[in-house]
Amino acid sequence: MNINNIVRKVYPKLTPYKCKLADLPVEEIKAILGKETVYKLSFNESPLSPSPKAIQAMTESLGKLNLYPSSSGDPIMKKIAEIEGVGPEQVILSNGADEMIILIAQTFLEPEDEVIIPKLSFIQYLAATNLMGATPVFSQMNEDLSYDLDDILSKITSKTKVIFLCNPNNPTGTIMPKHELVKFLSKVPEQILVVIDEAYQEYAGLPEFESGVRHLNQHRFLFVVRTFSKAYSLAGARLGYGIGTPEVIAAINHVRPPFNVNAVVQAGALASLDDFEHLQKAKVLNDQGKQLIYEAAESLGLPYLKSYTNFVYIDTKIDSDLVFEKLAEYGVIVRTLKGYGLDTSIRVSVGKQEEVLAFVESFKEIMLQA
Ligand SMILES: *Cc1c(COP(=O)(O)O)cnc(C)c1O
Repeated sequence: MNINNIVRKVYPKLTPYKCKLADLPVEEIKAILGKETVYKLSFNESPLSPSPKAIQAMTESLGKLNLYPSSSGDPIMKKIAEIEGVGPEQVILSNGADEMIILIAQTFLEPEDEVIIPKLSFIQYLAATNLMGATPVFSQMNEDLSYDLDDILSKITSKTKVIFLCNPNNPTGTIMPKHELVKFLSKVPEQILVVIDEAYQEYAGLPEFESGVRHLNQHRFLFVVRTFSKAYSLAGARLGYGIGTPEVIAAINHVRPPFNVNAVVQAGALASLDDFEHLQKAKVLNDQGKQLIYEAAESLGLPYLKSYTNFVYIDTKIDSDLVFEKLAEYGVIVRTLKGYGLDTSIRVSVGKQEEVLAFVESFKEIMLQA
């Protein structure tokens, strides 16, 4: 008798969150590398602290932590609804977008269902699919690493229950242009839930990008996932949210734990939404950093993808493990994309200027020697 006799059947397909060097908290990376300065550009975290308004609101919330938080997430939930121009019955909060992806899976997936996932996308869609014992069906990418939406449509069967899309996409930073999204939605059969993860939408910028929220009337079961972890600098506090048609929200609410979002982040997120300057600062810093990374790739003659996010995809043309190790010697931590079968590509998060410059300088030295 061992633990394998009592865990669920899906257990062999589930993996605990792996902590390779790039996944560790920065203090631990410092200790392992024996360095005082480490530039962690592997997590797409905001280089800015949370908005001072958010910090104040969160600090004030601490004295009331003897009380349970609001279950619906009112008033932050209503504030999001107001900003997005939807009804409060169309918004639901989660303990980070990661939890929302799991809630979607728990609400909709049966073991006999198929889930279409783009081959090069956020890994949690696969983890959530496996959790429920459903079958992942991978769609291929176009040569330029954008989504092949025709391939996705061609993979739809009578068993397809959910299609996960990430827009802008992690780890490529690319978007589905709005006309393609509209055309795609018009072709997806009504009974399929289309999930669009917009974790990076604040960085995306108009006019090519358009949120799925603007298209809720075009597909019956459409659900958009967002987070305060990236542009709003609240990754450590955990707040995700979803916007969808009332039926989809009501269904997920049957599964959502009653107090899944803590009171501290509810207060902090509400205050963050009032700090337009902080968001603006994050975007400007990000645009400047991206430019420096593009210029470095260009000067080295390396292909990269124009990013609508806070990270840049670069094909280093050499073994990415080697690039990772050399960069780590300079205290710069990036993400390799070997898990996706891309042996020479890296994803580098846009940090603050000092961090970006540390990456650019060490990357140039390494690549010129290689
Ligand atoms: C970072 C990220 C998330 C996770 O966000 P949390 O709210 O921190 O759980 C979800 N989706 C994508 C595509 C991400 O990159």
